[in-house]
Amino acid sequence: MSPPHKLHIKSYGCQMNVYDAQRMVDTLAGEGFVETASIDDADLVILNTCHIREKASEKVYSELGRLRVIKDEAARNGRTLYIAVAGCVAQAEGQEIIRRAPVVDVVVGPQSYHHLPQLLTQAKRHGRALETEFPVEDKFGFLPPPKPDAIRARGISSFVTVQEGCDKFCTFCVVPYTRGAEVSRPVAKIVDDVLRLADHGVREITLIGQNVNAYHGEGSDGRVWSLGDLLRRLADIPGIARLRYSTSHPRDVDETLIAAHRDLPALMPFVHLPVQSGSDRILAVMNRKHTADDYCRVIDRFRSARQDIAFSSDFIVGFPGETEEDFQATLALVMQIGYAGAYSFKYSPRPGTPAADMQETVSAAEMDERLVRLQELIDSQQSAFNQAAIGNTIDVLFERAARNPGQIVGRTAYLQPAHVTASPDIIGQVLPVKIESLERYSLLGQLAPASAAPAVPPASSQMPLSQMIDSAQTRMGA
Ligand code: SAM
Ligand code: SF4
Repeated sequence: MSPPHKLHIKSYGCQMNVYDAQRMVDTLAGEGFVETASIDDADLVILNTCHIREKASEKVYSELGRLRVIKDEAARNGRTLYIAVAGCVAQAEGQEIIRRAPVVDVVVGPQSYHHLPQLLTQAKRHGRALETEFPVEDKFGFLPPPKPDAIRARGISSFVTVQEGCDKFCTFCVVPYTRGAEVSRPVAKIVDDVLRLADHGVREITLIGQNVNAYHGEGSDGRVWSLGDLLRRLADIPGIARLRYSTSHPRDVDETLIAAHRDLPALMPFVHLPVQSGSDRILAVMNRKHTADDYCRVIDRFRSARQDIAFSSDFIVGFPGETEEDFQATLALVMQIGYAGAYSFKYSPRPGTPAADMQETVSAAEMDERLVRLQELIDSQQSAFNQAAIGNTIDVLFERAARNPGQIVGRTAYLQPAHVTASPDIIGQVLPVKIESLERYSLLGQLAPASAAPAVPPASSQMPLSQMIDSAQTRMGA
């Protein structure tokens, strides 16, 4: 039997999974695998799964049904197709997958990706292989770095994991069970990763972690460094034009992070800060350990450090016990903050979490209706935020050729896509763009003379973003 060569990987869920998928590709590259975009010519398919909500988990089993047909077809043509399930569903339901889906050859939890080559060998020799223990060794010490051509192929923006796992145990959330306890990578390893990425053309780094600002890594000076300390070090790396981080928790925002936003022009003024609910009663049952007012105070601290800072968030509607009054408190909080965008989800009970044992009190119809009301409010704020960019000249980091011929697309400081007609030579550069119009969520504009734009309009000459949103909302009649 000839060894498999082509690897197709399908990732669901969060940015941690996108990053993990790349690290699995890097690991298997050492075994002679190359990535393919098509399942049909793959020798190995990996489903990199998400367990955060029921819908995300169920997708895995329907996808496995589809893969069974493809695997049977491959077998009829004399080929062996190997199928692996990775990610948080693998971690949470490993034995169940083995029982329910005979089509699966390998099940591997998120902390064991560095064992993938051995698990594949085991599956080839003995049938199937499962690994969902949390290994004692740190997988990052064993995952090979990406090759230069892989870095270049992935573009000018890259994720780097700095922290994994969570010790907060919000009552609705599976992450502490699927990703395990909070662990931070040492500063020196992260700096090495970023230096390598910068050497091969990466211009923007997003530091990622389930609770990224709980980062407490061993520093090069033997001290424990915070996320703010780490950002300060990374901002010195030549070639890195933009730094971001996600996802942060309101309780872990410390003074070093606020100071980093005040002092580092490379640190983008856009923070994803999930709050989940505006009701203190629900926040307490969720075990968030902060109130709506605490959250607003955190936002105030960011805003006093950088006037042009904008926020996005996550919300859950229909948590057990949520009344109309609680939901109104969420709407009131959204009105008070003024978001540039936000994600909102219907509560989904996850087996093994404390909330799964709470009585569900919000009917499916009420949940749908609350979700629509919340999303309408968030959409109106996002549209107002995007509208407020029209007429301004703002910096855009150009990423790639757009679908429209002749156009290049990049991102503003606030991750808004911005299109211009220009030569592909501008990819990788941060250039000022005069924004002329808005098409759905995309800004359209023209390159402006280089001297015209600071990264964002200077704080002293600019209205706070919350006021810009208010005035744009008024203009739109929202
Ligand atoms: N660590 C981040 C924080 O504490 O805000 C959140 C990370 S979690 C992977 C991403 C989002 O999924 C959460 O912010 C929450 O809104 C949503 N989520 C998590 N569990 C959920 C559940 N059981 N039902 C619905 N949404 C959920
Ligand atoms: Fe989940 Fe975030 Fe809460 Fe941790 S802090 S349990 S990752 S929602």
